[in-house]
Amino acid sequence: MSRGKAIVYVRVSSKEQVDGVSLDVQEKACIAFAENELNCDVVKIFREEGKSAKTANRPVLIEMLKYAQVHKGEIDYAVFYDASRASRDSDSYFGTVKAILTKYGVKVRYATQKGVNETPAGKFLETLLVGMAEFENNLKSEKVHESMAERAKQGYWVTQPPIGFKIKVVMSDGSLVDSEGRKNRVKFPKILVPDTTIRPGEALSISEKLAKIFRCFAEGNMSESEAYDMALSIGIKGKNGKPITFGRFDDILRSPVYAGYNESEALLGKGVTVKAKFDGLVSKEVYDRVQAILNGNKRDLKPKKKELYPLDGILLCECGKLIHGDAPTDGSGRNVPRYYCRKGKGGTHGYQSAKADEIHEAFDNLLQEICPTEGTIRLFKEILKRTAVEKLGSANTALEANRRAETELDEQKTRILQLLVKGDISKDEKDSLILKTDEERLKLRRERVELEKQQSLNETTIEYVCNFMNQPSKLWKDANLESKQALQKMMFPNGLHINLKTKKCRTEDLSPLFSIMANKKAPEGGNSEAMVTSAGIEPALPG
Ligand SMILES: [Zn+2]
Repeated sequence: MSRGKAIVYVRVSSKEQVDGVSLDVQEKACIAFAENELNCDVVKIFREEGKSAKTANRPVLIEMLKYAQVHKGEIDYAVFYDASRASRDSDSYFGTVKAILTKYGVKVRYATQKGVNETPAGKFLETLLVGMAEFENNLKSEKVHESMAERAKQGYWVTQPPIGFKIKVVMSDGSLVDSEGRKNRVKFPKILVPDTTIRPGEALSISEKLAKIFRCFAEGNMSESEAYDMALSIGIKGKNGKPITFGRFDDILRSPVYAGYNESEALLGKGVTVKAKFDGLVSKEVYDRVQAILNGNKRDLKPKKKELYPLDGILLCECGKLIHGDAPTDGSGRNVPRYYCRKGKGGTHGYQSAKADEIHEAFDNLLQEICPTEGTIRLFKEILKRTAVEKLGSANTALEANRRAETELDEQKTRILQLLVKGDISKDEKDSLILKTDEERLKLRRERVELEKQQSLNETTIEYVCNFMNQPSKLWKDANLESKQALQKMMFPNGLHINLKTKKCRTEDLSPLFSIMANKKAPEGGNSEAMVTSAGIEPALPG
């Protein structure tokens, strides 16, 4: 039989370049796997350095996808080191990477996760691995979130610059440099400076224009919509180059960053502001007057929209359209969060909606009836053995060695004391020997803390996913928005149909990882085809 053809993709993020699996190690493993286990020649290797896995926006990955397109039908396999190399986000993985490769006849394989293939079990494994990688990524984001919160508390700026500002990186010697193209953006704190660029044909920079609006509005002689008209007339544009929307304009007027304060509910907590280490565009007095005027026409402070509708993006109406969350005003003028389906072109029904609470309750009821199938649990244990444990392997080995060394030191201590008792050594000698063992013990302790840190992320993931599998309902309720969405995606990879009137969910949408408890006789892996990429998805080649 003639040998097939494989392409290999390897990747490290800039952070992993220090302590992750190197490109060369990945490449070697992938080539060996392709040659020995797939009986293929590797025709091209794609190496991506310094890119995070979070999005499909990786130039070399896109190059590979284009290569697969150009060589349609010629390539048998695309080999990755593991699922996390391919993507850490199941949307971009199943929606883009996997979909495009499949379209051009290329099968996906992981060199270190050998169970992934086109069988139902193999597809199931793939969904789970990608789900785990995504979850781990979200956990990492949480860690990043912590350090961002710390910086924000100190008065630095941690996100994209708002309109009217530019970001400067504060170097260790206190000098300010542009952040563009800097690899160590994360490493150093950042501040904002006014964007003083004056575009051709204009008299004022964007920061001057905004300051002007604030000051005019603060005088109290114009309504907010008049101020908005003024903003448009003096050419205030959003980052996309288009005139800003009213909503965006309102956000700007309310944002304390324009007076030199950090405020981020997500990072600092609700209602907390911190004096920033940089100046705003206007004084605090001007900003406060603007707030007083705005609050004269008081608006309800709403929670973040996204958090109100965790099921946005996964729920499908029976007509097939995505269901979205919104809060129209009811008869008494209050906003009531609802999910709704807008009748689409040629839609089969009119406007339909249901209270968000009721939909969440219906979803929760469904989750309470769901448990992992027997096959899932069995396979899941297998996966833990095969992949997670493999990943943990080195840290665990080092930890074991560390613990053994500590036990040895304890025994040594006992021996020293015995020597003292027998009179073989003096008390001074004993003290100095004990001191030495204690020092070594301390060294081991420090080492252990480091090792345990390495271990914890993986273990948290495993523990979480294990729990989640047994109690989907509880874990869904406890999870933050990102994790909720990762879980939903895992349970309903192609969305969940719901009838907005009866609040009945279509249980056939459930991933074969799970089954409905009331119906234990559901065939194992019965719906596996739906798990990978739904036939209707024809994504455009990015880039
Ligand atoms: Zn509909």
